[in-house]
Amino acid sequence: MSRVYNFSAGPSMLPKWVLETAAKQMVEYENSGQSVMEMSHRSSEFKQIIEDCEQRMRRVMNIPDNYKVLFLQGGASLQFTMIPMNLLKNGHADVINTGQWSKKAIKELNKIGKADVLASSEDKTFSYIPNLDDLTYHEDADYVYICENNTIYGTKYKQLPKTNGVPLVSDMSSCILSEPVDVTKYGLIFAGAQKNMGPAGLTVVIIRDDLIGHAKENTPSMLDYKIMADNDSMFNTPPTYAIYICGLMLQWIEEEIGGLDAMKRRNDAKAKLLYDYLDTSEMFHNPVNPSDRSIMNVTFVTGNEALDAKFIKEAKAAGLINVKGHRSVGGMRASIYNAMELEGVDKLVTFMKAFEVENQ
Ligand SMILES: *Cc1c(COP(=O)(O)O)cnc(C)c1O
Repeated sequence: MSRVYNFSAGPSMLPKWVLETAAKQMVEYENSGQSVMEMSHRSSEFKQIIEDCEQRMRRVMNIPDNYKVLFLQGGASLQFTMIPMNLLKNGHADVINTGQWSKKAIKELNKIGKADVLASSEDKTFSYIPNLDDLTYHEDADYVYICENNTIYGTKYKQLPKTNGVPLVSDMSSCILSEPVDVTKYGLIFAGAQKNMGPAGLTVVIIRDDLIGHAKENTPSMLDYKIMADNDSMFNTPPTYAIYICGLMLQWIEEEIGGLDAMKRRNDAKAKLLYDYLDTSEMFHNPVNPSDRSIMNVTFVTGNEALDAKFIKEAKAAGLINVKGHRSVGGMRASIYNAMELEGVDKLVTFMKAFEVENQ
């Protein structure tokens, strides 16, 4: 068996430890006589799995008691709808537009209420994060919305907007669990699991208590945070296997890596290796404002489409797969989420150096 280095933006690599642990438990989970996939979600075994997953997440992310952790479905994209349905009271929210994922959130928000776009980096293909000091937030906005790590462009907020008590809502799909965060600065954090916390099919929402229970009366039950919270994410069948794998990811971070501080050091080292090379390369270039660079998604271009295509093809043949950039921006992108080893980034950089020499 030979595993590739997978730089996919999502679904993406999982740690070998997680896969091997899951493999050992595939046919029979502990002494239950069955696999996790076959279990009733109401069984005592599964209740333990979902509780362990939540408790680990609370420990790893240091989530205060006045926040609920919800295990939902519908992807990060359904949150673009659920957030306004549940959080709007005055009918409008402030949004900073940093790319395709915030644009999609704006579109859905505008179906339910109104998005006030305070700033946008669209003028330069979303290659930077707008200056937050220049912004005037609406005092009566129901929330301020950001996409904290922009998966497609490789940008990341290094500071958070100072919202003056207005709840901050953050799409952390592609940066959750990559570094410590101060959860108390947010009203709501959400993430699709398939980038950095497990397989597709699970969406995690971390929401402050006081933001729950304000959905309009006609809100469908499945879209109401209160109903999901009151039922411990078991109003209906939750994505059981994805929750189990998410629990293993958290166990890996806690026990094998040593928590989010250690995770951040590991992620910083990987990103530095790649950016340092990009900054010296004559061929490859990172188009992002240096102070806004993501440590999860690293974008680069040669400036020549044919050469980009050649690089992507040859990288794949060398076992470095999915380095093609998002179809909307072209070029290349290496997603180096938690599961990517330093060794994988080292292999990529070595390959890029050789490619640069051969194709001068
Ligand atoms: C992938 C991604 C999404 C969409 O996630 P789905 O689970 O496919 O709906 C939203 N936001 C960000 C930042 C993403 O990276």
